[in-house]
Amino acid sequence: MNEYPLTSKLRRGETDVLAIHCGDYRFQSAFQEFLNSGLHLDGNYDLIVIPGGPLSLILFDYLPKFNWASWKWLRFFVENHKIKRLILIQHQDCAFYRSMPLHLHSSPEPRQRQEQDLRRVRTAMVKDLPHVAVESYYAGWNATDNIVIDSVLP
Ligand SMILES: [Zn+2]
Repeated sequence: MNEYPLTSKLRRGETDVLAIHCGDYRFQSAFQEFLNSGLHLDGNYDLIVIPGGPLSLILFDYLPKFNWASWKWLRFFVENHKIKRLILIQHQDCAFYRSMPLHLHSSPEPRQRQEQDLRRVRTAMVKDLPHVAVESYYAGWNATDNIVIDSVLP
């Protein structure tokens, strides 16, 4: 059996932050940098990583089992860790969105579809978990391949 000693230590105490983003390998270090340094969370957050990120939270009719599971996981963290702040991140060129039928959104433009979904999650959260504050972000890249993250307004 191999052992991999790390410098990381178990984080003790509590968190009230949950982040949800896609698992696309191209963005993982940027997401971590954004959460840890950009938002100053320094590793103090729960995390759900699923294809399409927050998308599965609004697929009530199209993929009801995905939707059910995603809300189950979200509620698990909210109830067990007293989550008060939810951070949703969508990203440019998300392959999961290419599998989604166009009729589910009001626009064929990918970024508008993703921002529409972020607003839909916020609306659902206000109704079902009103004590949780929702922040929405969109990650893309610029001409030099640096990742840039923008806030998505409600
Ligand atoms: Zn993705």
